[in-house]
Amino acid sequence: MLVGWFEQNARDLPWRRTNDPYAIWVSEIMLQQTQVRTAIPYFERWMRALPTVESLARISSGRLHKLWEGLGYYTRVRNLQKSARMICQDHNAQFPQQYDAVRALPGIGPYTAGAICSIAFNQPTPILDGNVIRVLSRVFAITSDPKEPRTNTLLWQLAEALVTRAARLSPPSGCLPCSALNQSLMELGATLCTPRSPSCPLCPVQPHCGARQRGIQEQLPLPARRPATTQRHFLAFLVEHKERYLVRQRPDGMVNAHLWEFPNAEVKAPLSTKLDATARKMGLRIIDRKPLCTLKHSITRYRITLAAHRAEVVNLGTLADGHWFTRRQLDRLAFTSAHRQILRAATL
Ligand code: SF4
Repeated sequence: MLVGWFEQNARDLPWRRTNDPYAIWVSEIMLQQTQVRTAIPYFERWMRALPTVESLARISSGRLHKLWEGLGYYTRVRNLQKSARMICQDHNAQFPQQYDAVRALPGIGPYTAGAICSIAFNQPTPILDGNVIRVLSRVFAITSDPKEPRTNTLLWQLAEALVTRAARLSPPSGCLPCSALNQSLMELGATLCTPRSPSCPLCPVQPHCGARQRGIQEQLPLPARRPATTQRHFLAFLVEHKERYLVRQRPDGMVNAHLWEFPNAEVKAPLSTKLDATARKMGLRIIDRKPLCTLKHSITRYRITLAAHRAEVVNLGTLADGHWFTRRQLDRLAFTSAHRQILRAATL
């Protein structure tokens, strides 16, 4: 019933047109923190630039980060390349088919391993992401917190029972039952069984849905407790000299490692004070500063305010870790999203 609905209603997404485990892996990693609509052009560009595991293993760090620029959570892309190099070295450049070997690759957890093995190799491996948690919590009317270990284990068991059962049924010709079952659960959660106002009258599993029968579908799954947020403030300086801009690359081991940015530092609020002292701590002796833009964004539980200023510096010759690049050269570098916005604000 559910699989039949999926075969007739599945969205035509580029990673669904292939059984190539490499392409499915890339799409699953992209989709971990990114909406489908945003991921599509990135995925298509990636597959044109890097069509094979070997091409991913070989690409330079700069080009790799540029392909991911704007998607955030850059550890994902570095783990993709680490895994590609392991696949080339340990598996003769063939994507491994055993669940344990897939799970052993950097950045691949139980959900991603289950998705790759079921979708690419039609193995009865369960998956449990936010969409599937919502569907199963509602169908089985699970009223406890899905993050709580016992409930989470129960959800994995249910996901496994469903895909194992699908593997035993005789499918219509051309249907890969484990792949179709897992993808239908994800698709149902993404399109009909949505967090708010689920479209129950259109749903293929409505007759079997415990939450719908009890009228509690909008209350499930139980919402997770949100962690407390922390405000953080940064000052950044856009220093221009003879049509070149001063930038630096974030070092290894930091958030957004290898990405480029304008000189900046964390400060205590308010942002309008201590500009000169903050710049001096970074080795910049600034003059003639003017406010450029103020940006707000969130990274995990942090609510970040970044105030950028244009400035000139008087100690050009003594700057240690800075690089001077033209606008055209900057366009070829991978920037964090906030610093890409600073550049846009500066050159509008
Ligand atoms: S009947 Fe409604 S709540 Fe139940 S699975 Fe379908 S869309 Fe979700």
